[in-house]
Amino acid sequence: MVKTTDKIHFIGLGNMGFPMAGHLANAGFNVSVFNRTPSKSSNWLESFFGTALSTPMKNIEKSNVVILCVSKDEDARELLTGDNGIISKLSTNTVIIDHSTTSAQLAIDMANAAAEVGCFYVDAPVSGGQQGAINGQLSLMVGCPAEVFKQVQTTTAPYTKAIVHMGPVGSGQKTKMVNQICVAGLIEALAEGLFFAEQAGLDTQKVMDVVSQGAASSWQQVNRHKTMIAGEYEHGFAVDLMQKDLAICLKEASRLNIDLPTTCQVSGFYSELQADNLGRLDTSALLMRLQKTKSGGLT
Ligand code: NAP
Repeated sequence: MVKTTDKIHFIGLGNMGFPMAGHLANAGFNVSVFNRTPSKSSNWLESFFGTALSTPMKNIEKSNVVILCVSKDEDARELLTGDNGIISKLSTNTVIIDHSTTSAQLAIDMANAAAEVGCFYVDAPVSGGQQGAINGQLSLMVGCPAEVFKQVQTTTAPYTKAIVHMGPVGSGQKTKMVNQICVAGLIEALAEGLFFAEQAGLDTQKVMDVVSQGAASSWQQVNRHKTMIAGEYEHGFAVDLMQKDLAICLKEASRLNIDLPTTCQVSGFYSELQADNLGRLDTSALLMRLQKTKSGGLT
């Protein structure tokens, strides 16, 4: 059972990790942070009480929980099992909770590496976006042995609204894939609906007001339509990160020998935005793509 006296090593202070580590510090955990770009650790220390580490390895043996929130498979693999990988330096029974969105295979590989040194690896990808991280209202989908779940639940409580144990290691990432497959289709449908409304000469805001009361409502529709109508695309999850996730989904689908036609097509649309250097825009920029396509295409 994790107590607030437990020591947490938190790696990755990006849009998500920065506030998450902050919630842990505010909850009274003993938190040490490491980030590849050191200025983020210094900024974090200006807002929260804890320790900034100069390397991910520093004092790692003193922590009994290691939390990762980095970008992709390669980052997690290098940090955990690379040349200076931290797994080999962990104390027995340390629990690694990985909030990065990665492949299920990465999770299985890391769990095997952790087991070799008597530790546990937990895949715990999140949903809820940067706002959810700031508000401490994330949803966690967790893959781990049943005996570790309670500990994960206790440790992550300061930033979690909902947490579900999905099954063995890898199940959390597979659940996150379902989330991203659904989101990709929903955003494209919303972009097409708004584009149609605009081209049909309707008042797009009035259209959204009425359809939000019916069967077409969704989180994306409620939270993104205003910024889409305003042509503002800096309000959420970036196209580049979504493409990383959709590539994971499509690879897993291929492994399962199934087709995901809409996911595949939406991923192609995001590739077009990336080719136009628009990968930092948020995922709702699919509307911009439709508008640009009508007026001659992306540059
Ligand atoms: P981000 O802003 O790009 O942050 C990633 C952080 O990880 C950066 O601060 C980066 O350091 C750090 N990092 C990467 N490799 C590292 C390494 N080897 N050692 C130490 N630090 C390293 O990404 P994010 O938005 O926080 O997302 C993190 C994860 O959550 C991703 O897997 C993403 O798909 C997932 N996620 C994001 C959202 C969202 O809305 N943003 C929602 C749900 C899930 P640098 O400062 O050097 O780049």
